[in-house]
Amino acid sequence: MLEGRASHSEAVWRNLIEMGAAAAAIPEQYGGAGLGYLELCLVAEEAGRHLAAVPLSSSFYLAAEAILRAGSEAQKQRWLPKLASGEWLAAIAMTEPGAGSDMRGMRTKATREGGEGGGWRIKGSKHFISHADEADFVILVAVTGIDDAGRSQMSTFLVDLDAPGVALHDGYRNVSHRGYTNSIIDFDDVYVGPDALLGEEGKGFELAGEWLGSTRLQVAATCLGRAERALDLSIQHAATREQFGQPIGRFQGVGFKLADMATELRAAELMTLHAAWKYDQGTATDADIAMAKLKATEMLALVADEAIQIHGGMGLMDELPLERIWRDARIERIWDGTSEIQRHIVSRSLLRPLGA
Ligand SMILES: Cc1cc2nc3c(=O)[nH]c(=O)nc-3n(C[C@H](O)[C@H](O)[C@H](O)COP(=O)(O)OP(=O)(O)OC[C@H]3O[C@@H](n4cnc5c(N)ncnc54)[C@H](O)[C@@H]3O)c2cc1C
Repeated sequence: MLEGRASHSEAVWRNLIEMGAAAAAIPEQYGGAGLGYLELCLVAEEAGRHLAAVPLSSSFYLAAEAILRAGSEAQKQRWLPKLASGEWLAAIAMTEPGAGSDMRGMRTKATREGGEGGGWRIKGSKHFISHADEADFVILVAVTGIDDAGRSQMSTFLVDLDAPGVALHDGYRNVSHRGYTNSIIDFDDVYVGPDALLGEEGKGFELAGEWLGSTRLQVAATCLGRAERALDLSIQHAATREQFGQPIGRFQGVGFKLADMATELRAAELMTLHAAWKYDQGTATDADIAMAKLKATEMLALVADEAIQIHGGMGLMDELPLERIWRDARIERIWDGTSEIQRHIVSRSLLRPLGA
């Protein structure tokens, strides 16, 4: 809920909600526009170009995606229309100080109370939780058991942030995306009813694997928009800035940079939109999505860096948007699965069929 919050991103959220962006991928029967992921990526690409202050994925789309994929009809009726109207915002709480890339290392536990069909007690702590200070509820992943191989089994819960026992603390100051904050959330014996369980008990890891696909595509798409902006500015600058009596773009050292930036951007855009199209057809593999996220985030790092090089000293000054695009680009290779994790997913898809 945004009402009365002293959030610096409030005005941006409000505009997005009025434009219908909050509801874009939610089916019409729950108050949304019923768009697919390809269209959503086009929205995110455009949003990335203009307002990267508010990463769209977690609060708008990811929560809705998780509820759509795993929620009961009652849960869909309860949560989706309020997400679609922007009345409620959500955060996603998976990461812990001891468990980042390795989700199975998490320690936050949810314990059944009152036997089969009863509610749950949640105890633990999450960090790096984006938008939690603005959110009404979190989609929380917690350990609920151990499987036969001795690995943690996880489940997913919908938890109101004003539930007794939930404590929100300021997170860390981030070099990227300073237009919003991340938080630390402690859960001290928080009780949730049986209807808070999202999806099947013990299937939280698998569910997170599914929804991370959609958020990775959103990350990739916002990278495209920012890279387009950096490239446009660079082309403009290379065509008009004169040194040694001619536009700097005529020097091969500068012109070839533009060519590489444009080529990388085109490749990343095609890969992202193709993966999104496959996602809508239900044929996207984990590797399709991992390749798109890897390519788009690494492409943005290159394009942002070269854009600053082409602008010389002014590129680093905050008169231009480039230093921000460059700072913001750094997180994209870390969150929603680091570049190494994406490479791991891709290489596994190549080797597994051979039993390696
Ligand atoms: C600003 C910000 C906002 C975030 N928002 C959220 C949020 O809203 N909700 C949420 O749940 N999480 C959030 N995250 C967490 C984010 O997804 C994690 O930071 C990310 O998954 C990496 O985990 P980690 O930081 O613990 O790094 P680690 O997992 O400790 O990784 C450290 C390094 O080791 C490498 N590494 C780890 N395992 C392997 C492996 N198997 N093979 C090769 N290399 C490996 C990594 O690639 C990385 O380079 C956010 C993070 C940040 C920084």
